[in-house]
Amino acid sequence: MNVALSSHRRITVKIGSALLVDREKGLKRDWLISLTDDIAALAAGGAEILVVSSGAIALGRTILGLGKRVLKLEESQAAAAVGQIALASAWSEALGRHGLRSGQILLTLGDTEERRRYLNGRATISKLLEFKAVPVINENDTVATTEIRYGDNDRLAARVGTMMGADLLVLLSDIDGLYTAPPARDPNAAFIPVVERITPEIDAMAGAAASEFSRGGMRTKLDAGKIATTAGTAMIIASGTRLHPLAAIDAGERFTYFRPSAHPVKGYKTWIAGQLEPAGRLTIDAGAVRALLSGKSLLPAGVTLVSGTFSRGDTVAVLDAAGREVARGLVAYDSGDAVRIAGLKSGEIAERLGYEARAAMIHRDDLAISSAAQPDETR
Ligand code: GLU
Repeated sequence: MNVALSSHRRITVKIGSALLVDREKGLKRDWLISLTDDIAALAAGGAEILVVSSGAIALGRTILGLGKRVLKLEESQAAAAVGQIALASAWSEALGRHGLRSGQILLTLGDTEERRRYLNGRATISKLLEFKAVPVINENDTVATTEIRYGDNDRLAARVGTMMGADLLVLLSDIDGLYTAPPARDPNAAFIPVVERITPEIDAMAGAAASEFSRGGMRTKLDAGKIATTAGTAMIIASGTRLHPLAAIDAGERFTYFRPSAHPVKGYKTWIAGQLEPAGRLTIDAGAVRALLSGKSLLPAGVTLVSGTFSRGDTVAVLDAAGREVARGLVAYDSGDAVRIAGLKSGEIAERLGYEARAAMIHRDDLAISSAAQPDETR
C-alpha cells in the first residue's frame, strides 16, 4: 500500500510509552529528536500535526525510582504528575529545535464525551493550530480515576483526531501493524497491509476482549480504527521502534492502513459516533437494519431488546440480531419507556405510555451509521 503522509493535511500522531521512555534510562531523547525531525518536515510541507503522547506514567516512574512493581492508583497519578511535566518540556524543546511552537493539552474523559466541553476543547485546539503551535495531548492522568478515564491513548487519539477533522491518524507502537492473530502467540500469524473495514472477522484478530492486561494492545487500536474510519479519518498502525518512524512510512516500511468510510458521518454525528461508552444497547431486527442503512429513523417496532439503564438523550449503541454494531444514536426515550414500547407499532405507543410521544426511538438526525455496517457498494 502506498500512502504518502505528506498528501494529508491534518495528521494526528499517537506515540506509545515504550517508544519514548526506557524503564532504566528514562526519556529516549535521540528517538524523540528523530521523530520531531519528521514532524517538522511534514509541517514544512504544509501539514498540521497533532501529537498524542503517552509516557507520563512511565517517565514519572523512572524519575521517582519506583521500579517495575504494579502501582496503586494514587501512585500512578503522582507518577503522571512528575512524568508529564518532564514529557511536556522534552516535547517543547525537541519541537523548538525546528522553530516549532507547542502547547500542552491534558484531557479528561468528559472533555470529549460531553457535548459542550467537546466544542470547547475543539475551539482551543483549533486556535493552537491557527497559532501554528503543535498540540501535545495526553490524558490528564493525575485526576483520571478508573470510572472516568480513557485508559488508553489509542482511543483518545482517535477521539481527538476525529473531533479535529484530521484526515489521518497514525498509531506508532512496538508492533508494525495488524496480523491475523497476535504474532507473539501464533507463529503462523499473517500480516495484513490493508483493512477495508473493521468486520467481526477483523475484530477477532485482536485476540481476547479488552482487559486490564491488553490495554493499549490491538483491541484498543481496532476500537480507535472504528472511531476514525466512521468519521472519515484513515488510520495507520506502524512500528515506531526505529529512528525517523514517520519518514519510514513514506519510504515504504510496512504498516497496516485502515481505509476511511466513503460516506463518513459529519459534524455533530462525529461526536455521537465516537462516544466511548454508550449508556445502553438496542438490538434491532433485520427490517430495521435495512431502514437505518437507507437513512431512516429507528422506530420502536424494530427494537427487539433493550439493555442498560439510560436517560433520554443518552448515546446508545444499535446492534443487529448477531450483536454487530450498526449505529450509535441519541435515544429519544429513557430505558424504562424504551422497554415498554420495544416492538410496538407507532399507533400503539401513546396508549402504552399514557402520553402522546415521539414516533422514533432514535431520530435519523441523531443516528450515526458505523463504517463497519455500511454495505460494500457505498465504500
Ligand atoms: N496516559 C498514559 C501516560 O501518559 C498512557 C496511556 C497509554 O499508554 O495508552 O502515561
